[in-house]
Amino acid sequence: MNKIYLVIPCYNEEEVIYETSKRLKEKMISLIDDKKISKDSKIIFVDDGSKDNTWSIIEELKNYDKMFGGIKLSKNKGHQNALLAGLMTVKDKCDAVISLDADLQDDISVIDKFIEKFNEGCQVVYGVRSERKTDTFFKRNTAQMFYKLMNILGVDIIYNHADYRLMGGRALDSLSEFKEVNLFLRGIVPLIGFKSDIVTYERNERFAGESKYPLKKMLAFALEGITSFSVKPIRLVLIIGIMMFLSSLAALAYFLILWINGYTIQGWTTVVASIWMLGGIQLLCLGVIGEYVGKIYTETKARPKYIIEKFVLDSEGK
Ligand code: UDP
Ligand code: MG
Repeated sequence: MNKIYLVIPCYNEEEVIYETSKRLKEKMISLIDDKKISKDSKIIFVDDGSKDNTWSIIEELKNYDKMFGGIKLSKNKGHQNALLAGLMTVKDKCDAVISLDADLQDDISVIDKFIEKFNEGCQVVYGVRSERKTDTFFKRNTAQMFYKLMNILGVDIIYNHADYRLMGGRALDSLSEFKEVNLFLRGIVPLIGFKSDIVTYERNERFAGESKYPLKKMLAFALEGITSFSVKPIRLVLIIGIMMFLSSLAALAYFLILWINGYTIQGWTTVVASIWMLGGIQLLCLGVIGEYVGKIYTETKARPKYIIEKFVLDSEGK
């Protein structure tokens, strides 16, 4: 029987964590009773530098029940880093890890299917949302546009899959080989390979608390995904540059003909318009290039992606 760990990143989740731990524990116990997972399977919460009581609740849970464990990051590092911290910390202690959000928007009843697929030899099982009824109109549409854009840019990501997935030990070991600092796990995991499969589920609404992903973070996350995985934007800049150059040659030829024929009055509008247009395009190009240069800068520094302050597992304080 497989030892399965659940890893749950939490940021200011005091409102949901009791309920989440209760529901997850029930699920784990039924899996243990059905002999689908081993008795020493665990639920690990990763506190991503919360400012509320999240960590004290996690500690309390772990003191009272050895099924729970906790990892505390020294400061808020964002969902992706918190998740990676969890995965890397527990990867050698279990056979497979299932990652999910603290708000249980991902349907936990499909965990059985995750485990079945793992037993069939899949090293990665992706949870895929069948529909997005519970998301707002805005979030649903922007998210879908994002997946489409990523595909156009040639990035291999699973449509409608967030970070609800199972990863086996070998997949996790391979994940640890990826040294990049700009983390976008949804893009990295498909690069690992191995046998994989998907499990579809319906996404629920957050039962308490509010989203920790406001628009600003969502946009930053999308930009991260694109610039960490695709160089097509750079190529696009190059193509625009070439096109501008060719059309300016054509314009030059036209102006020369005008000059030869004696029509040399140039409109003020043209001059001003071209200054602004060229200025704009140059700025755009610089911006895109800057984005990549910035990436190189952070990658070469190779800073640690997270720092663990504490790792507590069972009631003996191990
Ligand atoms: N989260 C985190 N660090 C952050 C922001 C979010 O660990 O800086 C966690 C959060 O606690 C939750 C998960 O990431 O478990 C997903 O966040 P949320 O449910 O707020 O996002 P949404 O479902 O609205 O996209
Ligand atoms: Mg959520």
